[in-house]
Amino acid sequence: MVGILEELKDNNHFIDSDISGKTMSYDYRELGLKAGLEIHQQLDTEEKLFCGCPTTLRDAKESSFEFFRYLRPVQSEMGVIDKAALEEVKLTKKFIYKAYDTTCLVENDEEPPRELNQKAVEIALVIALMLNMKIVNELYTMRKIVIDGSNTSGFQRTGLIATDGYLDSSYGRVGIDVLCLEEEAAQKVEDRVDTVVYSLDRLGIPLVEIGTAPDIVSPAHAREVAEKLGMILRSTGKVKRGLGTIRQDINISISEGARVEIKGVQELWLIETIVEREAARQAALLEIKNELNERKASVSDRILDITSIFADTSSKVIAKAIKGGAVLAVNLPGFAGLVGKEIQPGRRLGTEFSDRAKKSGVGGIFHTDELPNYGISEKEVESVKQAAGANENDCVIMVADTEEKARGAIEAVIIRAKEALEIIPEETRRALPEGNSAYMRPLPGAARMYPETDVPPVEITDERMNRIELPELIEERIARYVKHFKLNEEFADQIARSENAVLFEKIMQKLPNANANIVVRTLETTMNELGKENADISNINDEHLMHLFRLHSDGKVPNEAIGNILKIIASKPELTADKAARMLGIGVVEMSELEKTIDTLVESKMDFIREKGLDSVGPLMGVVMKDFRGKVSGQEVSRLLKDRIARKLGDKQSNQS
Ligand SMILES: [Zn+2]
Repeated sequence: MVGILEELKDNNHFIDSDISGKTMSYDYRELGLKAGLEIHQQLDTEEKLFCGCPTTLRDAKESSFEFFRYLRPVQSEMGVIDKAALEEVKLTKKFIYKAYDTTCLVENDEEPPRELNQKAVEIALVIALMLNMKIVNELYTMRKIVIDGSNTSGFQRTGLIATDGYLDSSYGRVGIDVLCLEEEAAQKVEDRVDTVVYSLDRLGIPLVEIGTAPDIVSPAHAREVAEKLGMILRSTGKVKRGLGTIRQDINISISEGARVEIKGVQELWLIETIVEREAARQAALLEIKNELNERKASVSDRILDITSIFADTSSKVIAKAIKGGAVLAVNLPGFAGLVGKEIQPGRRLGTEFSDRAKKSGVGGIFHTDELPNYGISEKEVESVKQAAGANENDCVIMVADTEEKARGAIEAVIIRAKEALEIIPEETRRALPEGNSAYMRPLPGAARMYPETDVPPVEITDERMNRIELPELIEERIARYVKHFKLNEEFADQIARSENAVLFEKIMQKLPNANANIVVRTLETTMNELGKENADISNINDEHLMHLFRLHSDGKVPNEAIGNILKIIASKPELTADKAARMLGIGVVEMSELEKTIDTLVESKMDFIREKGLDSVGPLMGVVMKDFRGKVSGQEVSRLLKDRIARKLGDKQSNQS
């Protein structure tokens, strides 16, 4: 059978079949790549979604008290326990919650939720309209079961706001399937084997969840769509900013592959790599599957106790584990060489086995593709193979831990190895920092929802919708800044996305002659630099800045002095900009002193001036600025020089006539 990968190789699309070479280039259309994004964005409201507590984040060390809960496996009304829930409760976990003086009984689940925060509803409606969505007539709050303890109530409250929208991209239209208004989960601050610690400050912050249709066709496309959605969200001016305030989950599959959900991507730039590497992982797993089938590989169900082989082992890891524990093994006939085969840079089929094994609480697995190693001798490996009845085509997997954990781990490996023969498993995976992903749990079934009867439904009237004014898109704002304020593209882009955009517009409105590029550089760069030098820039208010830019546009303050003036104001906020300027000697330069210097210079250079005419201004400027730089603006010096030279030349001419 010629698989899709073989075909691609023949067409030279598949440039590197061994992806360890890090060059991965696929024809994603032929690979049948499909991806969708799910974006979670915190909204910037003062209050939480279901109580009046502030949405400010706290340091876990400031917590006023803590309490704990145990998770019970949740049974649905059908009597079926969700596969994902079951997986999660293999280990009974204790959940500890840190509460603050900024959280209340609603977060603790000791008091029912209040009515929906209407400001959050408003922002969600604006976003829905910007995404061309159909809005519901009535907003119902529902309960969605969560199994990881991230909500004290055991469920997350969520409400469907809109469906069936779209956004346009350079690869065509991408559907926006749903937009929900939800409560943010508690923040995990510590994860031990049997205990998870959560912080309640984040629980209940309003959040929109936006799900696109699986219309994304390539890694670059995924990035473009994520960027565009981010731009639209920030255009509202009502979303939280900074790391952790926006998170993306990515659904990815290739033809003959499987739907995999990769959770918790925080950096935009990583999205492209994640899609690329997941496509590569699925392609490599398909290739391994075909190879295994060609070899007629199989998976033994026989779990062997081979502890006795390691009685005198010099492997520290194994020696430590078998004190009161065991080494268990299973043979995988026909798997030799493939368990150690790379499927993502630095990750192998063996890593997939190990991810599953770790869910039973073990540190990892050993497999004969990578042995002898870790202090395990060649002789021990031979004995293991012999005990397992393995030949050179087989791979033996071993786990060393307590008997119970090792057995759970080996059983999990057997399940994953059997999958390798037949399918790519549908999974929820966790994004790793470099763009790979690791197994988290099976893909959950469609979430079962129950009505939240404590929260009354909200009618979305036409009248309310008609009152909504849509904000200007950041893209449009950039174009307007370039056109109206003669900003360069880079500065326009920077200030349009900045929290300073409103201040910038206010300054330009009051001071139409201000140099917009200088204003942007001051607000975005100079202020940051001062902050890094530990100047207390919070002391610099809008009035200070407005006054400073007025002096600058009147030519009374040179460019180079702006940073120093602001530095003085930061330490002495009672000073106005012109007083701070005077402290630097700006403006105290007696005009007569400057004029005298210019007169003397002009007199001594008359030959040069007669020869060059007004072209002499530039070189003479340099001479004057040597003494006056930072004290008067170049503009002012240039004006005086031109005036004096013109007059001198005029005198000469009038004398001659
Ligand atoms: Zn509260």
